[in-house]
Amino acid sequence: MSFVDNQELSSAWSSVCAELQSVLGDAVVNNWISPVIPEKLEDGVLYLLAPNAFWRDWVRNNYELKILRVCSRRYPEIVSLELKVVTDARQGFSAPLSVDNQVESANPSSDNSFGISLDPDLTFDKFVVGKPNELAYAAALRVAESDKVAFNPLFLYGGVGLGKTHLMHAIAWSIKARDKKRTIAYMSAEKFMYQFIRSVRYKDTMAFKEQFRSVDVLMIDDIQFICGKESTQEEFFHTFNTLVDNNRQVIVSADKSPSDLEGMEERLKSRLGWGLVADIHPTTYELRLGILQSKAASASVAIPDKVLEFIAHKITSNIRELEGALNRVVASATLIGRQVTIDSARDVLADLLRTNSRKVTIEEIQKKVASHYAIKLSDMFSAKRSRQIALPRQVAMYLSKKLTTMSLPEIGKNFGGKDHTTVLHAVRKIDESMQNDVNLSEDIKLLIKILQR
Ligand code: ADP
Ligand code: MG
Repeated sequence: MSFVDNQELSSAWSSVCAELQSVLGDAVVNNWISPVIPEKLEDGVLYLLAPNAFWRDWVRNNYELKILRVCSRRYPEIVSLELKVVTDARQGFSAPLSVDNQVESANPSSDNSFGISLDPDLTFDKFVVGKPNELAYAAALRVAESDKVAFNPLFLYGGVGLGKTHLMHAIAWSIKARDKKRTIAYMSAEKFMYQFIRSVRYKDTMAFKEQFRSVDVLMIDDIQFICGKESTQEEFFHTFNTLVDNNRQVIVSADKSPSDLEGMEERLKSRLGWGLVADIHPTTYELRLGILQSKAASASVAIPDKVLEFIAHKITSNIRELEGALNRVVASATLIGRQVTIDSARDVLADLLRTNSRKVTIEEIQKKVASHYAIKLSDMFSAKRSRQIALPRQVAMYLSKKLTTMSLPEIGKNFGGKDHTTVLHAVRKIDESMQNDVNLSEDIKLLIKILQR
């Protein structure tokens, strides 16, 4: 079926809620799920509106998968969920933050958003600054506050959940607050590609081009998405050049530096690095604690400092997960109505604590393996082939593959710039040797134990 109108969408949602009662229980559905409003179904994404940010996060962290499972079983056209805060919809969508869409009007059956709405929570004053993000923050603020184009493009990069999207939204809010007339287009690279492809299909590329090329500020989030997508890169490259030539501001984010974007055309890589490249580093304890304190200050219940310190120590992966952890602790305190303690936080966060404790860095692996085999740390990066050195190096590569989420090329890079095939060879070789070499397999088990402690 397709949802022709809101009536139909609401009744579909009611039936999903009814089914969820048997999965999650009446209380959860009545308290958390039913109050969520289905906004629209678009390109397989069911957009849901929660009453506030806390609510959105709570539903996202706890029930999203279960909701999706029921939705997509009943309505196969639903492939993913997007939870938003209801105020985004009321204030954000219609605000002049996104450019009107002429491209879309050529095809009236589809959505009418050009950029996407901005999240009201993602502003500069809600961004906590610390060592890992101070450069990116300063650069973003500069771009937002200067009347002339300061540097073009601004290229923000860093790992997932570290604040790239937050900074981009903050820039947009700030520019809008100062000068309502400046047009800003913000969208993910995925959406850019999707719209581009559609304009080709509907033979409407001129309108597509025109539209992008007439904005004052263009922001493209997660540009790594178009790696390996040649014609989209080509289109982006031209749009980019036209805007820069006309002295319009371009802001791009990615999970890697321009030169590390594999599958990106050389000329685009080099062009992306021309302005200011600012990276966001993994969080430090101080930044995590600062963020928790700032978020806890606006929570409905008081969370003791000791508990915040505990979370800051334990949840080290990224800020999104850190927020999720705090939200859970707050929610459980609200529901149980009891004071939060380190023990109760530990219970509520059990699964998160487990995944966070499993994070091992490649440096730790190299250090531990080097000292275990009594070789120099620098031998890890060397090209020496003697067995006393090659074997520990292969063991370290093997453990890096097993214990971190890094790809083979990334691992190779961390071992003195080795090729990914070298890493693959090491992983296979150690896997095989462990079958018949008891000493080796004992060594490796021990190393894993030490590293995961
Ligand atoms: P990215 O785009 O880098 O994956 P996001 O910008 O989406 O990360 O950030 C993830 C979450 O963490 C968001 O909810 C964001 O508001 C929050 N966040 C990130 N950095 C900060 C910060 N410095 N201060 C406060 N909140 C932050
Ligand atoms: Mg992002």
